[in-house]
Formats: sequence, structure tokens, C-alpha cells
Amino acid sequence: MPLVYAFADGKADGNKDMHDVLGGKGANLAEMTNIGVPVPPGFTISALLCHDYLDKGSLSDDLKREIRAAMSDLEGATGRCFGSGPRALLLAVRSGAAVSMPGMMDTILNLGLNDETVRILADESNNPQFAFDSYRRLVQMYGNVVFEIKSSENGGDPFEHELEQLKGARGIERDIDLDAKDLEALVNTFKSIVQEHTGHPFPDDPNDQLLGAVEAVFRSWNSRRAGDYRRVHKIPNTLGTAVNIMAMVFGNLGEDSGTGVAFTRDPTTGANELFGEFLVNAQGEDVVAGIRTPEPLANMRDKFPQVFDEFTKISEVLERHYRDVQDIEFTVERGKLYVLQTRGAKRTAAAAVRVAVQMVEEGLIDKSMAVNSLDPDQMNQLLHPMVDPETHAQVLTEGLPASPGAAVGRVVFNADRAEEMAGQGIPVILVRRETSPDDFHGMVASQAIVTSRGGMTSHAAVVARGMGKCCVVGARALDFDEPNHRVRVGDTWVAEGDWLTIDGTKGNVLLGQVSLVEPQLGDDFNTLMQWADERRRLRVRANADTPEDAARARGFGAEGIGLCRTEHMFFEGNRIDAMREMIVAEDEPGRRDALRKILPMQRADFAGIFRVMDGLPVTIRLLDPPLHEFLPHGEADIAELAEKMGIRMERLRHTVETLTEANPMLGHRGCRLGITYPEITEMQAWAIFEAACEVAAEGIDVHPEVMVPLVAHVEEFRRQATIVRKIADRVFEERGQRIDYLVGTMIEVPRAALTADEIAAEADFFSFGTNDLTQTTFGLSRDDSGRFLPYYIETGLLKDDPFQSLDVSGVGQLINLAVERGRAEKPGLKIGICGEHGGDPASIVFCHDAELNYVSCSPFRVPIARLAAAQAAIQD
Ligand code: ADP
Ligand code: MG
Ligand code: MG
Repeated sequence: MPLVYAFADGKADGNKDMHDVLGGKGANLAEMTNIGVPVPPGFTISALLCHDYLDKGSLSDDLKREIRAAMSDLEGATGRCFGSGPRALLLAVRSGAAVSMPGMMDTILNLGLNDETVRILADESNNPQFAFDSYRRLVQMYGNVVFEIKSSENGGDPFEHELEQLKGARGIERDIDLDAKDLEALVNTFKSIVQEHTGHPFPDDPNDQLLGAVEAVFRSWNSRRAGDYRRVHKIPNTLGTAVNIMAMVFGNLGEDSGTGVAFTRDPTTGANELFGEFLVNAQGEDVVAGIRTPEPLANMRDKFPQVFDEFTKISEVLERHYRDVQDIEFTVERGKLYVLQTRGAKRTAAAAVRVAVQMVEEGLIDKSMAVNSLDPDQMNQLLHPMVDPETHAQVLTEGLPASPGAAVGRVVFNADRAEEMAGQGIPVILVRRETSPDDFHGMVASQAIVTSRGGMTSHAAVVARGMGKCCVVGARALDFDEPNHRVRVGDTWVAEGDWLTIDGTKGNVLLGQVSLVEPQLGDDFNTLMQWADERRRLRVRANADTPEDAARARGFGAEGIGLCRTEHMFFEGNRIDAMREMIVAEDEPGRRDALRKILPMQRADFAGIFRVMDGLPVTIRLLDPPLHEFLPHGEADIAELAEKMGIRMERLRHTVETLTEANPMLGHRGCRLGITYPEITEMQAWAIFEAACEVAAEGIDVHPEVMVPLVAHVEEFRRQATIVRKIADRVFEERGQRIDYLVGTMIEVPRAALTADEIAAEADFFSFGTNDLTQTTFGLSRDDSGRFLPYYIETGLLKDDPFQSLDVSGVGQLINLAVERGRAEKPGLKIGICGEHGGDPASIVFCHDAELNYVSCSPFRVPIARLAAAQAAIQD
């Protein structure tokens, strides 16, 4: 493998497909050179050498030799000499990894200047002011990047400090107004800063400068901000950066020079018009640093009409060549245009959608490419209301963006108060340390939920995402003053009833009522989703527990309900009273009496959902959570409930104590409830089949699928299925009606996966409950994982949170095995997934490969899942 790759005179050693070796920037410099775009000549040092350097701490002799050879070619190509006259060669040394990390690593410009070459440059340009300004920029950048002389806690950047002082003394505002003499003095001051900080003089030898810069660019791969960026964007640490070395061109040679950045289409709206900014008489770094305010690109047309035309043509060529919107950096040196970088442009979700459809219409890409061009997760931006990007609101505090969207409401600190105020028609924001199932009613009543504790998979986060409700968790700065119903961040107090705006997409808590913009699913979006639907093989269902959620899911294109949890149906209003009555009942008849009260309510719930889902399957899970979740725990609450129920407090306390478990997650829950209390399963089956018959009589096409949770042994399933089928027969007989239905099981413990063949012999379908399957495979409780899982991910022990993105190499094996054994016993067995993972694009690719029939996710994620499923099919 070569160590360096040259690009010069319309010919390059590399091309655009060599990102791994050349980095994105280097690959595109090579490609542009090959297709005739004017790029200053140079060469790229392979990214494969980055880790070699980082391990050894020095550049190899082979590499140094190749750099020398490449430098002499570059001198030939430019007709300039590095470190001497008559025309001096100056260099830009630029980082660039395979995946674009804008601004995360370092660049050094004007390399090759010293006390001798600066005079050559001054003569050649006939502009000493420019020459010494370039020199002081070099010493400053080199000091910052190579010697790491930067702003620190006890003072700002010492170079900037000197610069500001000098400008102050001269009464000058802009750097470029300093004269050559002042700049020369500044160079010497800067050099003494270097001497002071490093104990060594600034390197005068251009070759030393070059090698020092190459090493610094390699080292910048491991800088704190680059590491943070990679962690957030899941870019592997192993990639490394390439180093691009190229001839300098100067946008700061006077009024006939300049520099700019342009997008081939508007990155906010997607409109097909050149969009960008431009600065006359400036170096590129001035645009990025915001030292001077750039002008709109359109002004360039007036100032440099010819160059503008040329640039317009090049931007069209690049966009057509890459078949994607480009983000282009360019510089004009004395009327001559140079392109310094091109890359795929970052854009808003709205722009991405618009561009994809337009490019298909323009014949630039085909429909599959259009579908592939979208980032499914980014589409979230389109599906929820957003904080109006035009408004400037004051941020109270930040947390984790647990569930996207935005909401405005008045603050409440407990669930009952939330329900009460919402009942009066007041929009509320529930703010708590954390939430528990007891808070569910308050969460339902709220517009948004904020917690000070917990992570992306905390109770608040999971429940809020499930409801498509905006949520911020882990806002640690919130300091609660419960007795006075208020909370504080620093000096700012927020009391019950105060207005807040929550931005769940960004994780911000904003003060006051900030205006929101509604999601816009325009024609372009629908067109793209149609193209996606034509290409995917996986079906997409939704997790929905109410008719409202079911209707929303259908609106988003859900093809059925993959998980209807019934426990919420026990919590609402006075149902919980009946449920509690059942739990404290001493015998079966007592339990049956209580359950009889719940039956009509559940029947009505199911009927409502069946009506909405007319023609589509609805999977209903039998009661799953442990019973203690339905009872209060504090002494006072127990006393209050005992009084309300008209029983002795000791008896209720005894019940609560009996139900207490060391490990509820692995305790008396799931089908274990229905096995020990068959009357619960019977009641639920009655409700399901009576509801089904009722709506079928209305002409609704109903497809119930009854799902048994937490099965570990086939016998558990057999007994539960027997009850369900027996009740179905009785209902059908009573009503003189028959309805097709299925009875299946969740696969959510390893033993179920391992014995999938035995279970498949009895079950009509499988649905992977990957939340529990992840817990039981890892042997870790999600609710307790907050103490160590974030640490695992921060330190790279695990790449992803296994509760967010399916653990393919572990949990994935159990899924593959269960699919194989299940279908070996029962060919064509219908199999889906209903854990949180059903809405995660990476996990959806796995589900496609595992040949599942469907994924099921929260209603708001349905379009994302449709898109991800299509991409998985296209990439097959
Ligand atoms: P980043 O990845 O942060 O954008 P770059 O490597 O693109 O860093 O460099 C930053 C800026 O330096 C560019 O925007 C460009 O204006 C300027 N620059 C890079 N190469 C050259 C060059 N050969 N001549 C003049 N300016 C350059
Ligand atoms: Mg750049
Ligand atoms: Mg489960």
C-alpha cells in the first residue's frame, strides 16, 4: 500500500471511493482533480498510518522519505520552492477522516513561512502587509495546534490577547487594517509566546514545521472534542485521520480575492438554488471563525461575475457527479477560482425529503437511491411539533432528549395534580425526580415529562416514547424544593403553575411559552413513503393501548397492532379499585366478583381498538406486571386505601407484604399470574371475544391475536392457550358467531427461545419481547442499569445501549435460533418483534435479515420503521 497519494494537474492517485485510506476530504480532493475541477495540487498521507503514529509516537522513516519525494513533485507541479525563492511554496496541512467530522480536528495554513520566505512572499505579492499577516497566522495556528497553546481556565488565548491589545493601541477594529510593521512586531511577540510556553524557539526550518504539523494532525484524532464527537455519532475510534498537504491559495490578497462556502441547494428548505456565504479579501478560516460577517453568495455575482459563473457551473458538475447536494469550500485568488473541499451537505429532514424527490424528478437518482438517502432517525424531526427555530428562548436547563417533539404547559410536581389541572383544561408539564408506574395517570394527562434523574431507557423515557409524548430526562441541575412546590436551577425558581416549554428533540427545558411549529408531512414525504412501502418486505405494526393511539398509528401507516398492553386498562379511573379488590380478595369467588366489574370496561376498550383497526390484526397481551404494582406502599397510603375499601389496615398491609418480591422482574408476573389465577386470563378472554363478536356484528373485520407473556416452558403456554380457546368457544356458542383468531406467545426469556420448536407446536405465532429478552440474556435489570450501563457506554465497553439497539451478537443469536427452530416445527410460522427495538433502524435491519414477518413500534416511529425496513430490503 502506498503511504501517500498525490493529486495535481488533473490527475490523482486516489478517487472518491477511497474514504478509508484518504479520508473524505482527501478522497474528494482526488476525485475533483480527476474530473477537472480546479484544486490546488497536493498529496494525502494515508489514514491507515494514523494509529501507527499514535502507537509509536513518531513518524516512520519510510513515511518521511515518501513525504520528501511527494514534496519535490509538488514543487515541480507548482513551480515553487519550499523554504526558498524565487517563488516560495506555502502549504495547508489539513485533517480529514473517512467520516466527516466538521471542525473537530485541526488544520494549519501558511506553513513554510520564516523570516526569509516571508520577504520572498512580500516581494512576490508586492504586499508586505499580507505577507506578515500570513506569517503571524502561521505562528498563531501552529502554536494553537502543534504546541497546544490555547485558551485555558486562567486566561484566554495569549495570541488573541496580544492581537487585541495591539489593535486597541492603534484604535483599529479589523485585523486586516494593521500595517506590515505592526504585524512583523506581532510575529516576534507570538514567537516569544511559543518560546515561553515550550522552552524552544519557533521552528524556522519549513521541513520541521511540516513534520510537526503532520504529527499534530494525527494527534488531533485523539483530542477530547473529536473523541466526544465520535461517541455521539457512533464513529469507530479505529478509523484514524488522513493528512492532506496542499499548496496554499490566498483569498486575502486584496479586493480581487475572497473566500466562501456554498451549498448546491438550500440545506434548510431543500430549494434548488445555490446558497452560501462569501467574504472579500479573506482567508477561509475567517468565514468559519465568524470574525467578519460574510455576505450572501449572491453578492459575489456582482463583484466577480465571471468567477461566479464558473463557480455555478462547477457546483452543478459536482452535484451531478456525486448525485447529492454538495457543501463546497472555495477561494478566489486574484480572480482565479480554486475549490478546496466538497462533501455531501448536512441538511434538515425537510430539505432531505424535498431534495430526494426532486432529484428523482430530475433524473439524477432513482427511487431506491432516494429512499436510501434519508436518515430514518432524522425523520423524527418531521413527525413531532418543534420549537420554532426563529424564536430565541431562555434555556432553564438541559437534559437528555428522551422523546422528541415539543410542548408548552404549566409546571406540576405530582401526577394527581397533573390530572386535576389537565381536567380543568390546563396544559401541564410534569416535572419529577423520576417517574414510576404510579405516575402513569399523571403522565397521560401531561403534555410533556421532565425528570432530573434517569437515562434514555428510564421509566419516564420509555413510557413517554411509547405515548409519543415529548420528554427530557436526566436534567440533573434541577434542585427540588418539594414542601414549597417549586424547583430551582441556580438562581432561577420555577413554581407550580409557571409556564415552561420542553424541547424533547434537543433535550432543553425553556422558560415561558415559546411558539411551536406543527409537523408538516407534505406530498414529498408521502411520495417517499410510498416508494419505501413498495420496496420493503417487513410489515410494520404499532404498539398501541388505546383507540386514540391506534388511530394515530393507522394514520402513520401501521399495518396492525403488534402489542396492546392491557395493564393500563386496569389503572384508569375507578378500575384500579376493582383491581385492588381482586388482589386482596381471599378466595377465588372473591376474585371473580371483582373481575366481573372490570370485564365490561375491558370489553369496551377492546371494541374501541378493534373498530379503529378494522381489517387489520390486533395483538393483545394478557396481563403482565406483578400485582404489587397495583397497590400503594407508604403507610399513609395503605391506611387511606384500607379505609376506602372498608377493610382493616393490617389486612391490607399483610397483602402488600405478601406480594413483596426480592426481584419482581423475575417474580410473579407474566403468564405466571394467569397460571395461578386462571380467572384473570378467563376474564380477559371473555372481554376480547365478546368485544370481537360485538364489533363483527357491526360489520367490522376483526382479527384478534391473543398473546401470552413471559412463557418459559411450553406447558405454561399450553395451559393458558387452553383457557383462551375454551372461553372463545363459549363466547362463540353463546353468540352463535365464529371469529378467526390466533393464540401465540411472546419469546422473552432464553428458555423460550431454546425450546422454540416445542412451543411452536402449540402456538400460532411468536413475538419477540426484546426488552425482557435483553434483560434476561444479559442477566441485568434495566431499572437498575442506570448505575453502570452509562459508564459501560462512555468507556466504550459496550458500543450501544442494548435496550436501545438490539445486541445482535448475543440476543440476536437467540432470536435467530428461535426463528429457525420455530419454523422447522411449523413452516411459515408468523413471527414479529414488539420490544422498543422494533422502532430502531439498526435493529430493524437485523429483523429483516432474521426474516421476521413484522416489527412493532410506537405509533410515532411507524414511518421511521417503514423507511428503515425499505432500506434493509434495498441493501439486500
Ligand atoms: P475543516 O475540516 O475544519 O473545514 P479544513 O481542512 O477544511 O478544515 O480547513 C479549514 C479552512 O482552511 C478551509 O475552510 C479553507 O478555507 C482553508 N484552507 C484549507 N486549505 C487551504 C488551501 N490550500 N489554501 C487556502 N486556504 C485553505
Ligand atoms: Mg473544511
Ligand atoms: Mg416483557
